[in-house]
Order: sequence, then structure tokens, then C-alpha cells
Amino acid sequence: MAASYYGSANDGAPAALEARNVTRSLPLGRERIDILHGISFRITRGEFVAIIGPSGSGKSTVLGIIAGLDSPTSGQVLVDGVDITKMSEGQLASIRNQKIGMVFQAFNLIPTLTARENVEVPLYVGKHAGSPAARSKEVLELVGLGHRLDHRPNQLSGGEQQRVAIARALATAPAIVIADEPTGNLDARNSANVLDLIRDLRERTGTTFIIATHDPSVAAAAERVIRLYDGRVVGDGTPEEVGITEAAAAEKAAAELAVEER
Ligand code: ADP
Ligand code: MG
Repeated sequence: MAASYYGSANDGAPAALEARNVTRSLPLGRERIDILHGISFRITRGEFVAIIGPSGSGKSTVLGIIAGLDSPTSGQVLVDGVDITKMSEGQLASIRNQKIGMVFQAFNLIPTLTARENVEVPLYVGKHAGSPAARSKEVLELVGLGHRLDHRPNQLSGGEQQRVAIARALATAPAIVIADEPTGNLDARNSANVLDLIRDLRERTGTTFIIATHDPSVAAAAERVIRLYDGRVVGDGTPEEVGITEAAAAEKAAAELAVEER
């Protein structure tokens, strides 16, 4: 019922993204395996949400579905109130280009292109205001890489490469940036930098950020944590409410100890 659905935590604020009872199953030989068993959540514009869960809990599957890269077996995904699960591939490609930016663990930059050219790529797809070169420079400055415009990926550190990838995700000014283990290939310092950057960008641009991670110390940087276990939502609230903070503190202490011992 619509009234109870919208009468929950985020009264009045427009939903950037909503998953309604999303399931995903795959054929495995003559059987089917259920990967997602009815996932529901509602994310408000401008929220910074971490989806946490152990490896195999379904994080990447959820992200693929909410990004329109994969289809649910049943259920709906609404981006800005529009159901994307019934769209054609062409419509989906357009939604992805205009409304959704993606960031991956392995950065996925094109090695032969400079930082600036990598960020321009999505601007050559679909219609976007202004010149790609000017916009690319603007977003690279926004992520603190105004001095690295003409560097290629192999001339940049891992942390810098992930900043370029974040700039590329932001180039089309999407409503939502979806990142799958964005700090998975980074050391502790670069991880912290990328998380600070996400928090700062969220504040300055109002972009919604949804990141998946298995790491409590990463999830602790978000304002809201959705915990997955075995394809189900088993927790949804602030890091404290989901029990992330203590685990994160313990993990951080262990990491610092490991550095000292080296
Ligand atoms: P996570 O990102 O949390 O590690 P995934 O979403 O990648 O989890 O995977 C969830 C579960 O679905 C895992 O058990 C994985 O093995 C299974 N799975 C994902 N994709 C496929 C696939 N294409 N074929 C078979 N099993 C898959
Ligand atoms: Mg994954």
C-alpha cells in the first residue's frame, strides 16, 4: 500500500532508488540457485549508503541489478521513481548514461587514454551540455586531480586512478554513483582518502553514493549501512545500529598493529 510504503523513515524526501522485493535466481544444471531472496530498500537523494556482507552474500548482484546491468528474476527497481525493470536495452543504456555512474574495484580505466580523456568517454555518449573537455577538467579538479589531466593510468597511483574513475562516474552529473568494493585494491591510507572524497563530493554535489564492501572499516564511513547475508537484508540503519562501529574499530586497530610490526 502506497501510504505505508512512503510513510517510513524518509518522509517526504524523494527516493533516488528503490528496490522492491528483488529476487535473482540462476539455472545451475537442472536446478536453480537463489542468489537474492527478496531484497527491499529505499534510498533517499543525497544519502551515502554502504551495502556490507561477506563474500558471496549477493552485494555485486544487487549492485548490478540496481545499476540496470542485470535483470531481477522478480521484483522492481525504481530509479527516480521510474521502474527500470521493464525497460528495453536502449532505454536502460540511456538511464545508465544520464542517471547512474559506476565505479569498480579495479578502476577499469582505459590504459591508452589520459585521465582527461578517460573522464570524457561517457560525455560522448548521449546528449550532455557543454564541451566534454571543459567538463572533464572541471570534475578532475573536483576530485583534486587538476594537476594530473594528461597522465595515463600507469603514471598514476592506485588512489589517483580511483579518483579518476570517480570523476568519470560524475562526469554526466548522475543522480546516483554505485561503487563495487571501490577501496578493495587500495591500501589503508588511499582507502581513507577515497572515502573522504566520497563524503566531500556527496556534500558538495548532492549525489547519492551506494558502495558495496565486505570491510566494516569502509562501511563505517557511510551514514547508513544495509547488511546482507545469504541474499537477504539482515540489517539497515546507521553504522552503530548495524553493529559496524565496534567491528571497524577492532579492524583498524589490527591494521595499525600490523603496520607497526612491519
Ligand atoms: P558478493 O559481491 O557479495 O561477493 P555476489 O553477488 O558476487 O556476492 O554473488 C552472490 C552469490 O551468487 C555467490 O554465491 C556467487 O557464487 C553466486 N553467483 C553470482 N553470479 C553468478 C553466476 N553468474 N553464476 C553462478 N553463480 C553466481
Ligand atoms: Mg562482489
